[in-house]
Amino acid sequence: MTDRRPMILWFRRDLRLSDQQAVASAASSGRPVIPLHILDETMGGAARWWLHHSLAGLHRDIAALGNRLVLRRGPATEVIAGLIAETGAEAIAFNRSPDPAVAASDEALARRLRQAGIEVITSDGGLLFEPGGIRTGTGQRFRVFTPFWRACRAAPPPAWPLPAPEALPAPSTPVAGDKLDDWCLLPTAPDWARGFAPCWQPGEAGARARLAAFIRHDLRDYGARRDRPDLQATSRLSPHLAFGEISPGQVWHAAHHALARDPARSTGVERFLSELGWREFSYHLLAAEPEMPRRPLRPEFARFPTLRDDTALRAWQRGLTGYPIVDAGMRELWQTGWMHNRVRMVAASFLIKDLLLPWTEGLAWFADTLVDHDVASNAASWQWVAGCGADAAPFFRIFNPTLQSRKFDPAGAYIRRFVPELARLPDELIHAPAADPDRAARHGVVLGRDYPAPIVDHDAARQRALAALASLKQENAA
Ligand SMILES: Cc1cc2nc3c(=O)[nH]c(=O)nc-3n(C[C@H](O)[C@H](O)[C@H](O)COP(=O)(O)OP(=O)(O)OC[C@H]3O[C@@H](n4cnc5c(N)ncnc54)[C@H](O)[C@@H]3O)c2cc1C
Repeated sequence: MTDRRPMILWFRRDLRLSDQQAVASAASSGRPVIPLHILDETMGGAARWWLHHSLAGLHRDIAALGNRLVLRRGPATEVIAGLIAETGAEAIAFNRSPDPAVAASDEALARRLRQAGIEVITSDGGLLFEPGGIRTGTGQRFRVFTPFWRACRAAPPPAWPLPAPEALPAPSTPVAGDKLDDWCLLPTAPDWARGFAPCWQPGEAGARARLAAFIRHDLRDYGARRDRPDLQATSRLSPHLAFGEISPGQVWHAAHHALARDPARSTGVERFLSELGWREFSYHLLAAEPEMPRRPLRPEFARFPTLRDDTALRAWQRGLTGYPIVDAGMRELWQTGWMHNRVRMVAASFLIKDLLLPWTEGLAWFADTLVDHDVASNAASWQWVAGCGADAAPFFRIFNPTLQSRKFDPAGAYIRRFVPELARLPDELIHAPAADPDRAARHGVVLGRDYPAPIVDHDAARQRALAALASLKQENAA
């Protein structure tokens, strides 16, 4: 026990003890430490489920170090000022958020605390490379992914991960906090998250286990198998990364270590790291354009003629569009809080181009239903599909859901898992039962009764989307 006044250790979306600079700073400060988490009231429903379990795990890990996680809610500035007044804390350590909207208030908070005589230790957090740190030879920000990632690969690699501390001394007087259960983060009536638990192990230990399993089983052939939703061949680290239960630096070094042990993994490792690169690129874009979740990066798309159609939006959200691959993806999202990347692209394309609904509607639904919701990756990815982002897929490249389904879920195993009412259909019919409704009926699937008829005709919808694009171009040219 130390008689120095305490330091607040503020956990945010960095819910881990290892490779956590703020934790290392607090542990080596020689002060008693008050671990603190302040509830982010803006978090979506699925992410709140994750947060509950992640905090429970962190609570156990901190208890094992002889301390206790203090939970508080309210505006961060007020909570921290209150805690300082209450405990006499004279120092605080936290990792800066890579989200520019939060980073601005972090800076203001740090300034105010320093003026009040509090020692403030802040560190980079959550990314391999600080947003804005990677620039072109002439100091410009990159707008295209490939050269951005090449520059990242040429930059000094992320620091070797820090170990978790061996102790985190507690203050002599216990600090009161909320009970996790009183935050009511878990849904109850109805418990729409009951399918989540079998899929996930939130928390730092779960993140480490997931990474190890991925490296052992799937890293080597990642490049060849990553687009197949039926194979479950990607890392599924995204929620762990989104909550900071594992750092991208830990993932990076683990992948390199695996490569050193088995050079046959090199293609898989490069491809996998480049996906982490897209996460970096998304934050890099958000740092330059904090309005990215709301406004198209390409201003000429601001007046894109979208529709308002609540019935179609609801059918998409519920996985009842009549396009099996889209419906499987949307139901995977609802049942597990996650969706395979290839299917995210197909489902997003369907909303934007086949239904002509605003991409911001899809973004909002994902923000509420994804356990891995990440403000930068979600916005950059929606804009990528909508053709209005940096280095985006051009709008006129419109996914055909049936062809995507045949290519990436060839035997329909993914569809059978999430759209069980189609399970009896033969492989060649499962991707598009509406192509032969009589045959589907002979297999026990009557369209409109057992499964919806397509809510739009893809070919007609494609023409409508291209006409909308042409009208936008005309309007912008006028
Ligand atoms: C419309 C749409 C919305 C998306 N919203 C999110 C989101 O809110 N949060 C999120 O983490 N990802 C989002 N993604 C990106 C991607 O789908 C997920 O990161 C990926 O499916 C997570 O699965 P995984 O961990 O198995 O990925 P892996 O294939 O194992 O990749 C490893 C890691 O790289 C990162 N990554 C992979 N692909 C991308 C990508 N395209 N963009 C940014 N980072 C990537 C993730 O952190 C991922 O965990 C979205 C993609 C689309 C098309």
